[in-house]
Amino acid sequence: MEPRFFPIASSYILRLIYEEQLREFRDRLGEMRDPHVIYVTELVSCSQKRLFRINFPELTLGFEPPMIQGALIHRGLEELLREQGFVTEAPVEQEYVVDGETYKVKGRMDAYEPDKGVVVEIKTGRSAIGTPREHHIDQLQVYMNLVDAKLGILIYVTPDRILEYSFEKRDIVIQELVEETVHNKTHPRWSWECQYCPFNRICIYRNTEKAQAPGKQAQSLPDKR
Ligand code: SF4
Repeated sequence: MEPRFFPIASSYILRLIYEEQLREFRDRLGEMRDPHVIYVTELVSCSQKRLFRINFPELTLGFEPPMIQGALIHRGLEELLREQGFVTEAPVEQEYVVDGETYKVKGRMDAYEPDKGVVVEIKTGRSAIGTPREHHIDQLQVYMNLVDAKLGILIYVTPDRILEYSFEKRDIVIQELVEETVHNKTHPRWSWECQYCPFNRICIYRNTEKAQAPGKQAQSLPDKR
């Protein structure tokens, strides 16, 4: 039997989502080219990625459904946390000096409650296997150290699970991470990283070995001495 209704291709909503992604990207493009900016996520990942980000920022622009889904979940959950008194998309910035040059470490906490000293990071993905992931804990700990928060929460929202983990602050040496990043010492940081890297087609350090699942990595943050 013939279907009663024939779908017609449309792009009204798609266009809205696409334009929003593009606007956010364009807003950040100038900053992405700045060699004196280091993002918090770059302190806990491959240091070569930062150099590629400075030179080829456009390669990081994607329009993949999991990414869009993640952005929309962030929006929804952040709205809920705002109603509970959290500051959402809270900017954090601190300067560090390496070899006489000043670098700005910059990031945005998904949610922050300054009175209680709580940082929240929202993570989305296809699976909750291997959570809490080490690089997510590291990122959370960097934020907690930057704002001197007592408690950090990681919340994972995946198609089949919603999991929440909490962590007390562990003192870490951010200066060491900044030096390691500026001197491009660790490429990649995690064995699985190259597989998901937007620069893997132009990178001589690309790890071609079979990647381990996230959560089984070897390296982590340096403890404060
Ligand atoms: S391909 Fe691997 S080594 Fe190269 S920049 Fe990406 S994560 Fe780093």
